[in-house]
Amino acid sequence: MEGEFILKIVAVFFIACISGGIGSLIGGYRGRENAGMGFGFFLGPIGWIITGLLPEDGKRCPECLGVVPPKARRCRHCGELLQPAKRAEVIEQPSSTTEPQPTWFVAHVDGDEGPFTLEQLKAQWHAGKLNSDDVCAEKGDSDWKPVTEVIKPPVSKPASVRAIGRDA
Ligand SMILES: [Zn+2]
Repeated sequence: MEGEFILKIVAVFFIACISGGIGSLIGGYRGRENAGMGFGFFLGPIGWIITGLLPEDGKRCPECLGVVPPKARRCRHCGELLQPAKRAEVIEQPSSTTEPQPTWFVAHVDGDEGPFTLEQLKAQWHAGKLNSDDVCAEKGDSDWKPVTEVIKPPVSKPASVRAIGRDA
């Protein structure tokens, strides 16, 4: 009699474990393994239904459509790489395109130099590496201009020239 009772308890526990396992599988595709296991263990098929009605917890894998935790890098159902880094790259791209591109070439007696960005040209001017006789051109433009015209250094001379021109 007593042995039969223990056997019944073991059988119920065994069934509850299997039921919990099935609940965990159902919950797994909604990011709810633990809840699914608990509901399945204690409530059996009713727990499976409850698990199926639970709201999803996480994001969906694009490969197997299983739900994985929001920060997961690899899908735990199919092993697909979820690569949150890919998204980060896309976000970073616009900032790199707004960076000034080096497009200016400077003509020196001993050959052309460049390409430089406008900022680099200005820095060279301030460092005394360029003088007002140097000419430069933008990439794809064969029109050479005086360096002073491109970087527009704050010199008092051109202003006075302009003033005289206006008077005449
Ligand atoms: Zn997957």
